[in-house]
Amino acid sequence: IYVRGFVQKVHSPPPSLNDSLEGEIQAFLIDEDQLHTYDDLTKVNPVTPTTVLKCLQARYSAKVFYTHAGCTLVALNPFQPIPDLYSLDVMKEYHCAPQPQEFKPHIFIVAEEAYRNVRGQLVPVNQSLVVSGESGAGKTWTSRCLMKYYATVAASSSVVKNQDTVERIERRVLDSNPIMEAFGNACTLRNNNSSRFGKYIQLQLDRCQLLVGASVQTYLLEKTRVACQPANERNFHIFYQMTKGATDEQRKEWKMSHGQRFAWLPNSEKTVEGWSLFLIFMHRITFILHIALQILAGILQLGNVNFSSSSDESQTCDLEELSKDFLQRAAELLCVPAEELQTCLRVRMLKAGKQSVLKPCSQAECSVRKDCLAKVIYAQLFEWLVTFINNSICAEESTWCNFIGVLDVYGFECFHINNLEQLCINYANEKLQQHFVAHYLRAQQEEYVSEGLQWSFVKYQDNQSCLDLIEGSPVSVFSLLNEESRLNRASDAKTLRIRMEKELCNNGNISWDKFSKEPHFTVAHYAGKVNYRIQGIVEKNKDPVPPELINLLQKSDNPLLHQIFTDKEADNTTCKGLSKVTVVSKFKNSLESLMKILHTTTPHYTRCIKPNPDCKPMTFEKEEVIMQLEACGIVETIHISAAGFPIRIPFKGFMQRYGLIAKYSDFKSGSLSVVLTCLAVVLQLDLLEGQRKMILSQSAFTIQCCWLRYQCRR
Ligand code: ATP
Ligand code: MG
Repeated sequence: IYVRGFVQKVHSPPPSLNDSLEGEIQAFLIDEDQLHTYDDLTKVNPVTPTTVLKCLQARYSAKVFYTHAGCTLVALNPFQPIPDLYSLDVMKEYHCAPQPQEFKPHIFIVAEEAYRNVRGQLVPVNQSLVVSGESGAGKTWTSRCLMKYYATVAASSSVVKNQDTVERIERRVLDSNPIMEAFGNACTLRNNNSSRFGKYIQLQLDRCQLLVGASVQTYLLEKTRVACQPANERNFHIFYQMTKGATDEQRKEWKMSHGQRFAWLPNSEKTVEGWSLFLIFMHRITFILHIALQILAGILQLGNVNFSSSSDESQTCDLEELSKDFLQRAAELLCVPAEELQTCLRVRMLKAGKQSVLKPCSQAECSVRKDCLAKVIYAQLFEWLVTFINNSICAEESTWCNFIGVLDVYGFECFHINNLEQLCINYANEKLQQHFVAHYLRAQQEEYVSEGLQWSFVKYQDNQSCLDLIEGSPVSVFSLLNEESRLNRASDAKTLRIRMEKELCNNGNISWDKFSKEPHFTVAHYAGKVNYRIQGIVEKNKDPVPPELINLLQKSDNPLLHQIFTDKEADNTTCKGLSKVTVVSKFKNSLESLMKILHTTTPHYTRCIKPNPDCKPMTFEKEEVIMQLEACGIVETIHISAAGFPIRIPFKGFMQRYGLIAKYSDFKSGSLSVVLTCLAVVLQLDLLEGQRKMILSQSAFTIQCCWLRYQCRR
């Protein structure tokens, strides 16, 4: 049963609407004192950025952090633990409620709805929970809440299953989180626990809807952080955890001198959490992670290696005195010959036809090679970790039949200087926005038409042209970048810019500031304009790894290192270390696979909002919030939801609630179908006086349509 929102009636009243009805509806216009009571932003009237903001602010002050916005849930970050908001009892309350939607807005409503959909007749039955928002908004927190929810409710219903097995898999799934966060999260200026990768986790459910396993897919780890940390930010958590938490024995094993400082671990003085937890989880999962930690210790020693400049270009750069020792330690930890490691870092092999020529590297080149070695090791190790976790939590295919996916990806980014990473991240957000538009807005409108409901199409912002600009064919930013990368010529920012200007000029989403000193291009994303630096972007896209380095790692006596680099070659993603697939192509492919999965699921959207940039508890800064509301197009979403039929009650639920109104004995005796009972209820209400009658007659019309369709199907 579809019921219209009131907003629609004020914005575009039906032709027969008389003045007194408008008067009645005026009562729904914004009541400042009651703003915090508006559980759904579709009820705010008029819907403008200001009224939505006011409502959210009032709710935040009243310590209400979740608000529906039609089909989306808005989650404000309280930046402090809220007692009992996520307790076991609360989970059970939402899980056991006949109509959880009638409870206060909560992430558990979304979780429960998805869970029930798996059981229901809706198609598709597989579900996706898409959590978005900017850095520090609470995406990872929300994802964790969702996972805990399912680990609880999907287990609690298990009374017949072997309890041990069920418990073990839930624990494992939950334990995999802190391990991945240790390797993939870091303290940044915007979030002390910022995820530096995207993640889609599928929770696998069996026929009884019990959690029997999970699988994780990750996207674009920010590997540059290993060797280069932005000012006042830190490296990945795991490095701090292991250096601070190590026992004397481990220090010895990892060749760390007492009080040794590491160049790649800035801001070490800050507190580190999680090591003891990590050890517990690691212990539960396996001991092989110990070998991984030894490799990380090798990376840290490598970071302390410095080269002195050489005045003679034909000579190799020398190692600084202290660095000799660090290099030796790094080589031992990575289990490669120290001499060879040194040569690989200082000498480049150039191919000239079938012959190879050795050329000494400059000081800067040595440093780039050192960073490159660390990055490639870390990225591969992370990939291995994800596979390893998947192997330990993924259920056998025959044991599960449905899944609920939780997507926690980086939000839209716009810094002073934006690089290829931001282009990829913002491209991912464009894709998700397109999915949202396509799936929700378009699907909803099409559904109304197919249901025979009175409906005039609402225009929505389509971001297809921006996506065409970034990834389209035959020419786009990505295609030009890839072409430049393939040409393998010394990358020239000016040439790329000229090509872009010439070949992309027909797309209105790209522009250039002709007077800026540094060449850049500006993309008008759905969430705002972003300037991208052209300098160095081709090189980043190529992401070259010298083959000598890969050869060296393949020879490592460390079984893990040896394995991951031998497998890598077998993968054919590298040709003796030289990446054939560019960064954008790889990212585009992985994103396309994700979108394919999303399209086969029923999506649920949660928009996390960061109320202030300093992560302060209970501080609501309007400018901050309004920017985020605009970036995720929330007002547009509310408009569409409110202008349509935001309230949809399943026939059964409607009957349970209003069935008593039906006066015919037949209905009460239950001899008639659910749909017919609903129809009778609405027709009864139709007898009421005045304008209410008219509103309800529309519902009656709807129900009649539904009833007819239902009868036809039968
Ligand atoms: P990033 O994109 O940088 O990974 P994020 O959106 O994943 O950011 P989170 O790490 O989930 O952000 O949240 C940042 C911090 O905000 C958390 O570490 C936590 O302290 C706090 N936080 C988030 N949501 C909540 C909540 N619902 N209740 C209490 N604190 C929260
Ligand atoms: Mg996160």
